[in-house]
Amino acid sequence: MAYTYDDQNIFAKILRGEIPNNTVLETEHALAFRDINPQAPTHVLVIPKGPYVCFDHFAQEASDAEIVDYIRAVGEVCKAEGVEADGFRLIANAGKNGVQEVPHLHVHILAGRNLGRMLA
Ligand code: C5P
Repeated sequence: MAYTYDDQNIFAKILRGEIPNNTVLETEHALAFRDINPQAPTHVLVIPKGPYVCFDHFAQEASDAEIVDYIRAVGEVCKAEGVEADGFRLIANAGKNGVQEVPHLHVHILAGRNLGRMLA
């Protein structure tokens, strides 16, 4: 599938510094910040800096360096937030049925409470 990136989406504005965010970690190719409407005691979003709509788009078009940096950033945030011991959940919503609100790839890291068996 071909994706069209909307550079007016809110995470693009965050990346350009037009909207503030609560940064947890920044790497060459990724930015992690606290979700503005947390669904768990720990709720961090990790986004690539490149213009990718969703995970599929990223997997198809990002460079190896971007992919490695991004995945490592997710791991670094988990470590920094200390979520490994009690467990955590990663979610990447995509498209209409995935009910993706912001059309820029983001992985949610949720932790700090029992998240139940259902996907949030
Ligand atoms: O996966 P989905 O696209 O639905 O999630 C978007 C997330 O971005 C929401 O959890 C929302 O709270 C968060 N958000 C944010 N800061 C903004 C706008 C949205 O953390 N300025």
